[in-house]
Amino acid sequence: MENTMDKITIKKLEIYANHGVLKEERELGQKFLVTAQMYLDTRKAGSNDTLEDTIDYGKICFRIQRFLTEHTYKLIETAAEELAKELLYTVPRLRALDIEIEKPWAPIGLPLETVSITIHRGWHQSFIALGSNMGDRHAYMKHGVRALNQSKDFRVKSVSSFLETRPYGMKKQDNFLNGCMLVETLLTPEELLEFLQGVEHSVNRVREGKWGPRTLDLDIIFYDNLIMDTANLKIPHMDMHNRDFVLFPLCQIAPNYSHPVLHKTVSMLAEELQGEGTIIKKETVQE
Ligand code: ADP
Ligand code: MG
Repeated sequence: MENTMDKITIKKLEIYANHGVLKEERELGQKFLVTAQMYLDTRKAGSNDTLEDTIDYGKICFRIQRFLTEHTYKLIETAAEELAKELLYTVPRLRALDIEIEKPWAPIGLPLETVSITIHRGWHQSFIALGSNMGDRHAYMKHGVRALNQSKDFRVKSVSSFLETRPYGMKKQDNFLNGCMLVETLLTPEELLEFLQGVEHSVNRVREGKWGPRTLDLDIIFYDNLIMDTANLKIPHMDMHNRDFVLFPLCQIAPNYSHPVLHKTVSMLAEELQGEGTIIKKETVQE
C-alpha cells in the first residue's frame, strides 16, 4: 500500500546522542544521521494549503532529536524500533514509515563511511472474529474488544453487534455469541495471533478440542490483503466463507471488503452461503 502513498522525507538529520554497545559510546556520545520517510495522504493539505492537514516535518525533526537524546540504547536497531513506535503511536495521519539511522563514527577500528540500519513499520488493517459460549458471554466478548483497545499497538475502528448463534461443528454445546471487529495494528500476523491467544488465556479459556466450548475465541479473518498459509496461521481464515456467524457481522462493518483469494466481497460471500444457517437472533447486543 505504501508504494502508492504520498511521502514526506527528512534526510540525514544530524543528532549527537549516546547509543552504542561500548561503554565509551554511551558515555561520550557520537553523531547519528536519521532519515525518515513518512507515508501519509497529503491530498487534503495539497488542496487547501493548511499545515494541520499534513505532518509538520519541523516538529517531527525536534521530536526525533528529543527522543534519541533522552534515551540510550546499545543497538541502533532498538533506537530505530522505539523511535518508529513513538512516531506511529502519536503522529496523526502517519500510516507507515521507513527509518534509517546512520552511524558515521562507528568505532570499529577500520575506516568506513557509515554503517546504518533501516526499518519499515506501519499500521495494518485486520478483521478479527469474536465468539463465546461459556459463562457471561457478553462480558467475555467485551473483554476481548477492551483488551485490544487498551494496547497501544491497536486502534479498534469498528465493532459489529453480537449475534446469538447455534453451535457449528460440534453441535452438543451451548449457543454462541459471535461478532467481528476491524482494528488497525502495528503487530505482524504472528505477533497478532500470539496477542490474541494471550487474551484468550487471560480469560481462562479451556481448550476442549476443536470447535469445543470456549469463554472467548479470537480468530484472524483478514490482515490487509495478505495471503499466508503456515502450520499455525492461515490468512484469510480458512473457513470464514462458510460461516454465516462470521460473514453476517463482517457484513455490518465491511460489506465491500474483497476476499484476496476468492475475489468476492464479503456481502457476495454472505449471499452465496448455502446450507443451514446458525443465526438465531441477528441483533442481540450492540457493542
Ligand atoms: P477454532 O478457532 O478453529 O475453533 P482454536 O481457536 O483452538 O480453534 O484455534 C486452533 C489453532 O488455529 C490455533 O492454535 C492457531 O494456530 C490456528 N490458526 C490458524 N489460522 C488462524 C487464524 N487465521 N486465526 C486464529 N487462529 C488460527
Ligand atoms: Mg480460534
